[in-house]
Parts: sequence; C-alpha cells; structure tokens
Amino acid sequence: MKILVLGGSSEAGVLARALSLRADLAAILSLAGRTASPAALPLPTRIGGFGGVAGLIGYLKAEGVDAVIDATHPFAAQMKRHAAQACAATRTPLCAFTRAPWIAGEGDDWIEVDDAPSAARALGETPRHVFLAIGRQQAGVFAGPSPHRFVLRAIDAPSPDALPASLDLVLARGPFTLDDEIALMREKNIDIVVSKNAGGEATRAKIDAARELRLPVVMIRRPPAPARPTFETLEGVVAWIEAHRPAP
Ligand code: NAP
Repeated sequence: MKILVLGGSSEAGVLARALSLRADLAAILSLAGRTASPAALPLPTRIGGFGGVAGLIGYLKAEGVDAVIDATHPFAAQMKRHAAQACAATRTPLCAFTRAPWIAGEGDDWIEVDDAPSAARALGETPRHVFLAIGRQQAGVFAGPSPHRFVLRAIDAPSPDALPASLDLVLARGPFTLDDEIALMREKNIDIVVSKNAGGEATRAKIDAARELRLPVVMIRRPPAPARPTFETLEGVVAWIEAHRPAP
C-alpha cells in the first residue's frame, strides 16, 4: 500500500517514525520546503509544492498513491484544500492527523481573532513590546509604520523586505520550555504575545508563560479545514490505514 504523508508538523514526525517500521507499507513524506534544514525523518522524502491541485492529481496518479494522510500544520489551509480536492478528483482515500486547538483556561487573557491582519489591528495604537510568536511567513502582515516594537522568533531568517520597522529577530528552533519562554519574555520586556492557535504540546510553553506573567495573548483562530476523517492519535490513523488497504 502506497501512502503519501503531507508533512510539516510534529504529527507528521510521529507518523513517519511509525510507518518507517512497517515493511508492508510504502510511505512517502512530502514537505513544502519552507525550512532550510528540516528535521530528518526516516521516510523517503520529496520536497517542494506539487503545482496546485492539478499537479497533485498528476502526482497521485503517476506514483500510484493508494491513500493520503494530511499531517500538515493546522494553519496550512491551502495544502489541506488542495489535498481534499485532488483526492476527491482521483477517489483517493484521505484522512487528517492533527491536534486539538488550545482552549483558554483560568488565568488566560486571550483576545481571539480570525487572522493575522486582525491580530495586527488588535494590538491597537498604544506602543507595546510585542512577542510575535507566529513564525516568519506572516510577519510581513506586521510590516509598515507601527507604534510597536516587535520580537520575532523564527527558525530561518525572514526576507528583510517585509518586516516590521522596529524588530528584534530571535533565530531559534523549538521546543522551548516554560522557563525558556519566561526568560525570553522578561529579557525582552514583552507586554503582549501574538500566537496562532496551533494546539499541541510542542509550542504551548509560550502560552503558559504568558499566563504566568499575566500577559495578554492575541490568539489567531485556526482557518477552516475541509471535511475528512480526522484523528488526534496515531492509533486512529493506523486503524484508518488498515481499513483502506486496496483489495489484493
Ligand atoms: P499552505 O499555505 O497551506 O500551502 C501553500 C503551498 O505550499 C501549497 O499549495 C503547496 O504548493 C505547498 N505545500 C504546503 N505543504 C506542502 C507539503 N507538505 N508538501 C508539498 N507541498 C506543500 O502552507 P503554509 O502555511 O505555507 O505551510 C507550508 C508548510 O509548512 C506546510 O507543510 C505546513 O505543514 C508547514 N507549517 C506551516 C505552519 C503555518 O503556520 N502555516 C507552521 C508550521 C509548519 P503547491 O500548490 O505547489 O502544491
């Protein structure tokens, strides 16, 4: 059974390690290629876009893919849409492996917004020290004249043409501990955090740190995802694979 895993998330890593131990499955991991040196995973890996829905349809047919598992990050909305459309067009079974979003608890002070431009507006006009914990891809939304000072943390350096005027760039790859995050926020005098509601454990320390330091968080809600079977556990995905084995 040939399986295409759309990656770029910690779930994709968990799945890749599990599938690499299965001699009865031929799995290929696909990465967009955004990160210069992605974490090594034990599956044959292809890197780069497919060329839209048509490109993905061509790939599924050419490679004889039997099933697709969408393990992209919760904010990779376009890839999710393309996968749903290409799988529908080729009648390829598709499921998703993801994590639940974070939910505000006692002591959290969240301003929930729908997208990055709304997050930029939610910062208001009073000058603030903003921890932009959203990666580099949407940092450009915060570019241009602004009363705020930004601390942007990213794995790779962003292109310099679309960055906030007042910027402190921190290049680092997670996971970060609660102590790491508290130390960074204190060192940089942060008074508000901007985060995507990624969910999961790997990146939640910044949210816990904000609560601990009583800082508000502008929390960007997830974009909508297409309807398809969705699992939050490896066991769920493995059972789905078994149920979708092609007839011999
Ligand atoms: P996106 O907006 O949903 O996708 C943009 C285009 O990138 C897609 O149309 C596709 O190009 C290509 N692409 C995306 N994921 C791919 C994959 N796994 N394999 C091959 N091509 C892929 O995605 P994004 O938000 O730019 O994120 C890019 C990657 O980074 C995703 O794989 C995602 O899992 C990961 N990531 C994203 C975030 C985030 O916050 N957005 C955070 C952490 C990791 P074609 O149309 O040419 O096929």
